[in-house]
Amino acid sequence: MFPSAFSYVAPNTLDETYELLEQYGDDAKVLAGGQSLLPMMKLRLAAPGMLVDIGQVPHLATQHESPDALRIGALTRHAILDSKQFDRYPLLSQTAPWIADPLVRNRGTMGGSLAHADPAADWGATLLALKASVQLASHERQRLVALHDFFVDVYTTALEPQELLTEIIVPAPLADSLVFGHYFKLERKVGDFAVVGVAVTASLTDDGTVSEAGIGLAAMGSIPLAAKKAAALLIGHRLTPELIKEVAQVAAQEGDPQSDRRGSEEYKRSMVRVYVQRGLAQIHQEWQVANQSIA
Ligand SMILES: Cc1cc2nc3c(=O)[nH]c(=O)nc-3n(C[C@H](O)[C@H](O)[C@H](O)COP(=O)(O)OP(=O)(O)OC[C@H]3O[C@@H](n4cnc5c(N)ncnc54)[C@H](O)[C@@H]3O)c2cc1C
Repeated sequence: MFPSAFSYVAPNTLDETYELLEQYGDDAKVLAGGQSLLPMMKLRLAAPGMLVDIGQVPHLATQHESPDALRIGALTRHAILDSKQFDRYPLLSQTAPWIADPLVRNRGTMGGSLAHADPAADWGATLLALKASVQLASHERQRLVALHDFFVDVYTTALEPQELLTEIIVPAPLADSLVFGHYFKLERKVGDFAVVGVAVTASLTDDGTVSEAGIGLAAMGSIPLAAKKAAALLIGHRLTPELIKEVAQVAAQEGDPQSDRRGSEEYKRSMVRVYVQRGLAQIHQEWQVANQSIA
């Protein structure tokens, strides 16, 4: 299928980008990696009159790590996060290889994935587990929005038509803890979107107490979700088999999955339980190994 007619412009600066988005308003769409927008246009599910290609805009594809946070430029490709290790953010490089296939990963961007807001997308779950925020910018204003307020509904976010998502900000884990993270994805075939996706991260102190934790869920509702009740149960406790089991059961009850051709609601909840349990057990094991090598 062919898309309907559109114009194309590739600004060289952020200011130019903001001007174009303001000028064309609802008729404009930002083009990042094109891995979701172009298929939508070909299927005539989107018909923007103007494509604003941000590929030439400088500084949008950078990653900057400071003591407080990791700032990821919106145009950072999935493949970069697959190949680059950020030691304090192991969940990122655990998630990236699960996204689609190498072709999509080489073009698709983190900002594009979040702005597209597919409830089954992988970055949403992971970045919610990491309590990330997004920087939204226009000529008028800059605003920092917590990711859990950014996702509004299926394919719908808090972005205004004249706004650009410029950065994803992931807060640093606590300095006195070891941080662990795992991403699990059930897919019908390699490269497919998730039947369910589960991101689990936890920071553990010297004596094994959980100081921070996050659990993110993909394809468990109309938006990517944080299993907040389950994660809260972990704080201040050691990872015993009983606690892990309880947390996994609570996580499986969060979200509102629909039965569809990928699986029934019960099956999806059950897989969340299995993955949370597996993730936390793995984290406990890794902490034991790390602690032995320190001692
Ligand atoms: C075959 C295939 C398989 C896939 N499998 C998976 C998968 O398993 N898991 C997964 O998570 N994803 C998957 N995807 C989606 C892929 O990750 C896309 O890269 C991603 O959803 C969109 O990123 P993009 O950079 O390509 O954005 P684009 O397609 O360029 O844009 C997507 C939307 O976001 C808007 N947008 C983009 N960037 C910005 C910005 N900086 N500010 C404001 N708005 C912006 C665009 O206007 C558009 O509405 C798959 C895609 C394909 C084609």
